[in-house]
Amino acid sequence: MGVPIDGKKVAMDYRKNLKEFIKKRVDKGLEPPCIASILVGSDKGSLFYIKNQSKICSEMGVEFKSIILNENIAEEEVLKTIDNLNKDKNTHGIILQLPLPKKFNGEKIINRIYYKKDVDGLTDINSGKFYKGEKCFIPCTAQGIIELIKSTGIKICGKKAVVLGRSTIVGKPVAQLLVNEDATVTICHSKTENLEKICKEADILVSAVGKPKVVTLDMVKKGAVVIDVGFSVENGKMVGDVDYYNVLGKVSFITPVPGGVGSMTPTMLVKNTCEVLKGCI
Ligand code: NAP
Repeated sequence: MGVPIDGKKVAMDYRKNLKEFIKKRVDKGLEPPCIASILVGSDKGSLFYIKNQSKICSEMGVEFKSIILNENIAEEEVLKTIDNLNKDKNTHGIILQLPLPKKFNGEKIINRIYYKKDVDGLTDINSGKFYKGEKCFIPCTAQGIIELIKSTGIKICGKKAVVLGRSTIVGKPVAQLLVNEDATVTICHSKTENLEKICKEADILVSAVGKPKVVTLDMVKKGAVVIDVGFSVENGKMVGDVDYYNVLGKVSFITPVPGGVGSMTPTMLVKNTCEVLKGCI
């Protein structure tokens, strides 16, 4: 029987040092970390993430400024909002909630964020530095996934890892982080042939697709570590990509949805913002 990875507990443990850092700052009379979130439009998934980010920031003593712009706004206004936050000394981190409504030039808007405030690591500067192995901000979900894998105590070095999904925000960065940890990594996507066979060879399987039950019992290796990043709503319930209850009996560790990866992403966001204040980047 596999062990569910308690993402909330891993996140709470991780937050202890961060909370101490923030408390010490505030005790010295310095301002708390401040993250500005920009949402253009009313994407339901983004509204859910904002609520979660705001709750965790408030628990950790981090100021969270939520800016919601009407989707009919001109692109220039979105860029101006970012320019103002880039200049604002009291804003330490900026996140742009994705996806943006289709009419906007996402790349242009993301890259308007000053790279030293780009705490979700999405600008070209941070991406370039990341893949070159230089100090930079790394997308939060990907970092959180690695912390969850490490929390199981398994050795990543030398293991076969398979990542389902090749997005810039999850699939590609998590694959790169696994390579950095000396795993041998295969990235799969919607055009991958023999998906079952490839997944079945994985000691570590990370699924970031967003489709319920895309990972079934016959696709996992006995004793594998499975990280389910997917987030969908099925019959009014939050579910991941993995057929969780069937797979649980076969693997060594698995993240549930909810209660797995979701708690780690905002934790890494706060970690990155604290790094801005420490002048790490
Ligand atoms: P995305 O940009 O839509 O990417 C999904 C990826 O899955 C694509 O690369 C796609 O392949 C691939 N794919 C689609 N169908 C597939 C299939 N049948 N088999 C294998 N691969 C398939 O999504 P994302 O932004 O990476 O997010 C992925 C999921 O993670 C979503 O459910 C999202 O809500 C969730 N998420 C959770 C958190 C969290 O903190 N918990 C954070 C971020 C995202 P192609 O490239 O060929 O289209």
